[in-house]
Parts: sequence; structure tokens; C-alpha cells
Amino acid sequence: MNLAHGFVTAPHEYCPFMPVFAPPQVMFERGSGTELWDVNGRRYLDFLSGIAVVSLGHANPIVARAVSEQMIRLAHVSNFFANPVATKAAADIDALIAEVTGHQGQVFLCNSGAEANEAAIKLARKFGGRGRHTVVSAYGSFHGRTLATLAATGQPAKHEPFQPMPEGFRHVAYGDIAALDDAIDGSVAAVLLESIQGEGGVVDGGSEYLSEVRRLCDEAGILMMIDEVQTGLARTGQWFGFQSSEKDSVTPDVVTRPHVTPDVVTMAKALGNGFPVGACWAKKEVAAVFRPGDHGSTYSGTAIAGAAISAVISEMRRIDAPRLARERGAYLTEILSSIPEVDGVRGRGLLLAVELGPTRNSKVVNDELIARGMIANAVTSTALRLAPPLTVSTSEIDEFASTLRSVLAEGIGVVS
Ligand code: PLP
Repeated sequence: MNLAHGFVTAPHEYCPFMPVFAPPQVMFERGSGTELWDVNGRRYLDFLSGIAVVSLGHANPIVARAVSEQMIRLAHVSNFFANPVATKAAADIDALIAEVTGHQGQVFLCNSGAEANEAAIKLARKFGGRGRHTVVSAYGSFHGRTLATLAATGQPAKHEPFQPMPEGFRHVAYGDIAALDDAIDGSVAAVLLESIQGEGGVVDGGSEYLSEVRRLCDEAGILMMIDEVQTGLARTGQWFGFQSSEKDSVTPDVVTRPHVTPDVVTMAKALGNGFPVGACWAKKEVAAVFRPGDHGSTYSGTAIAGAAISAVISEMRRIDAPRLARERGAYLTEILSSIPEVDGVRGRGLLLAVELGPTRNSKVVNDELIARGMIANAVTSTALRLAPPLTVSTSEIDEFASTLRSVLAEGIGVVS
């Protein structure tokens, strides 16, 4: 690896990482808010936030101080003992969900989105009992890379190299309530869905979808589990993507959605603003099926993660992060929609996809954006995903949009 430039320049060069990721395009050294600097001191604007992770911006001083001070005071004591910091973090998560759903629950803390979903899948199996263990999820979904969460992920190509997949997973078309109805039989314990499919291309199931899913789950007596790993913590303009939306002065033409309360909610990514954390929340009566020894992790409830979580939640509350996501998201959507070559902008809040249409190769456009110091992601072959920090400024939005406008006007990425 050529460390000076951050590129792997030839396949035979030494690289200390297993080759599970495509060769990185840039090596970053420092960040602040929406800005990043590479090892050569070049500035970039990050409109991806490490894939919806640093929602409070890079190197957020409040989260950094909370984690550093906790590291000096007490990092970890094992699950034989308690610590007040992780206890507060779990209570903070529960309070947030109780505020938006009216339901209290209990939390399992972990280190990633996949682990949060593993906990949810095990909870569903314990809840359903022997013979009633199937989890139904959606095609196009993404739930993680562990074997069970990969099996839940509705992307058959990702399963192929690792067959046989664990048993007990079934997939249906996302947004198709009749298909879900057909898939639910006596072997099903739970449905696991994203409120917006992030990796799948920023696809929304529709305003009535989740309330219809709730109805089917209630009729069948099975769990409704919502994966908020990418959408949670204010990203969509609400604390969680499953929440009902309301028209307000910021988003007067938002599509309103009925209120739903899932039985299980998983989160990670923005919950630590870069410190690796995850959480699986369940309604109290559902969480109660777990007994000591059923699940765990050395790092479940470690003090250091607790410090990150509580700092993130309190800072997001202080700045009213959902409102910021709605305001900045509305501004970004408006300005992107005014670019003549843009076919459409979808998503909610600050989780957006810019559709470039069948005549553009989004990968080529994305590579050119990076070359001009703008970070986005080619989430499908024709669309760019944008998920900037919720603290992104309007001048940063202007700078990003004007770069994209130029790249598209110059015909970059046009498929001949
Ligand atoms: N669930 C969703 C919706 C995700 O977007 C992701 C990651 O992109 C995951 C789960 C997996 O999270 P992690 O990579 O932290 O294991």
C-alpha cells in the first residue's frame, strides 16, 4: 500500500488488511464537522458521514470529551458487575423510545448493527419457541455480515459464497403487504424490516406500509422488529424512521404516516458518533423471554460505550437533531432537485438518494466528486446516496450541490 497517497497501487503490494473491501480511494487523517482532510492535507466535504455514523460531525468535541474522560476514569468492569454510565445509557435509549412510542422496554447493548440484529433474531427465536423460529425480512434489505444477519439480508448474491445459510429465514418484496401476508405461517416468529432500505438504494416502503405490517404482526401474534441502524437517531427527520411524520413549517408537503410501535428496535451507527456501539431495544414483555445466559458479549454495557451513547443522545436533544435533519434535508432536496440532469431525489430528512437516471453511471460521477473533494456514495448503478452530518451548514450544502451541478453539466458519467 502506498501510504503517502492512500491507494493500493498494485495487487502484489503489501496491505495489512484482509481483502474484504474494494481498494480505498483516499486515506483520511483528520476531520471536523462535515470536513475531512487526507494525508496530503487536502480538504473534502463528507456528505456520507462514514455511512450515517458521524451524525454530529467528525471529531465532535462533546462526544470526544465524554469518551476520553470515561476512558481515564473507568472503561470496563465485565458483566459480573454494573456501572452507572452504561446503566444511564440504556435508560437514555429506553426514554427516547418511550417518548416517541409510549412504551417502556429494556435494552441489550453491543458494538455494531449486526450484533444488535443478532440479538433481535435470538430474541425472536426464544419468543417464538421451537418450530416457530422463522424471521421474514425483505429483498434488498441489509441487516449485517454475521451469518444470521447475512441470512436475514435479502441479497442472495451475498449469500452465495457462504452457503449453506442458517435455516429459518424467508424474504419477500419490500413494500408489498400481500407478499408479507402470504409469507406468514405458523413457523414465523418475527418480521425484520428497515423503515427505509438504506443500502438497498434509499427505498421507502410507502406511507402505509409499516402500519399494515403492524396489523399483520398483531393478527399473527408475531414480533414486528425494525432495523433502525441506518435510519435511527434523527437521520430521517424523526428520532426513528418508523415514527409517524407530521407536516410542519419545515416540511409542509411531507407524506404523513400513521403511528406504529414496533416490538423490537435495533440501532447502531449514529448512536456512538464513531465510537462502535449497538443496541437492541424490546418492549418489556418481549425482553422478558431472555434469561441470564441466553445472550451476552464481553463488551455489552461497557462504561466507555455508555459514555458515548449518553453524550450523543443528550447532544442530539440539545440541538434538536430531528428538526435540523428536516430543515437541512428540505434545503438539500430543493437545491438538488433544481439541477437539470437530476431525475429525482428520494428519501427523508438527511438520508437521500439522488437519481441520475439510466443514462448516467453513478460510480463514474461519484469518483469525479471524490476527485473534486466531495464524498458521496454510488448506492445503486444510477443513484448517489447522501447522508451528511445533521449539523451540515447551508453553505456546505451549496458547495456540494454546485460541484455536483458542474460534474453533471460536464457530461461526466454519461453512458454512451
Ligand atoms: N442494518 C442496517 C440497516 C445497516 O445499514 C447496517 C450497515 O450498513 C447494518 C445493519 C450492519 O451494521 P454494522 O455494519 O454496524 O454491523
